[in-house]
Amino acid sequence: MTEESSVLYVVATPIGNLGDMTQRAIAVLHQVPWIAAEDTRHSAPLLKHFGCAARLLAAHEHNEEAAAEQIIARLADGQSVAFVSDAGTPAVSDPGARLVARVRSAGYRVVPLPGACAAVTALSASGLTDAQFLFYGFLPAKPKQREDALREVAGLPYALVFYEAPHRILETVAALADVLGGERTLVMARELTKIFETIHSCPLAEAHDWLSTDGNRQRGEFVLLVAAPPAAADDGEGERVLKLLLAEGLPVKQAAKLAHSITGAAKNAMYELALDLKKS
Ligand code: SAM
Repeated sequence: MTEESSVLYVVATPIGNLGDMTQRAIAVLHQVPWIAAEDTRHSAPLLKHFGCAARLLAAHEHNEEAAAEQIIARLADGQSVAFVSDAGTPAVSDPGARLVARVRSAGYRVVPLPGACAAVTALSASGLTDAQFLFYGFLPAKPKQREDALREVAGLPYALVFYEAPHRILETVAALADVLGGERTLVMARELTKIFETIHSCPLAEAHDWLSTDGNRQRGEFVLLVAAPPAAADDGEGERVLKLLLAEGLPVKQAAKLAHSITGAAKNAMYELALDLKKS
């Protein structure tokens, strides 16, 4: 492979198993004089493993603009630079997007090198049959913001894909069950490509108990995938019951929950409708 001059290579790296490094990634990382890394200390062992001797520079979330200028200066000098994040595909819940935008607007070529991505890896083995998915990444950490964020996507006819860290996994699956309803299927894909890789599917209502049964099930990195909601039978029954409950003076949240339990109409749709009815 011949290296071109003045190119930014965006290089995906493994998410746990070094065997997933692509031949093309190894070749490019050998050839470029500079490697920009999200965390140079984190990437150093990977680069050492593959015998890459390029000089390193840091390009992380907090210095992405300044790093972009440094990288553009090197591209202007005819040198090529490779960018790697800590693991997986850069710019997917990782730094890289602003760097790429700056480099492209400065007129330089950006070449992506595909490889591991936790979301796509999890999807491929999830068994979810929905035709479309929505990649969300990390939900907000604060309960209120997380709930609001979930309400926005709850009624969409897509499978939902989230990233989550181990210290928040229990509260996140509880919030998913609460807002999306306990019936939707959840797939928990943990430690993908690593020794303790686990892929477990269950109804959302059972996920918290399953995780709580064994502390080891809460360890490591997670992709959470929720199946799309079943297409609601729109016979108007949910709306009729909801209106009756609101007329009896029940609060929006309780009325929506009851209308959902009584008629099977989607909980989030009932909630949105109740808000609209209250306003009008
Ligand atoms: N850019 C990366 C990618 O392409 O997947 C994602 C980076 S993001 C900062 C890290 C999150 O990705 C983790 O918290 C976890 O949700 C998910 N993740 C990364 N590696 C994983 C793995 N081996 N198994 C399951 N999830 C993983």
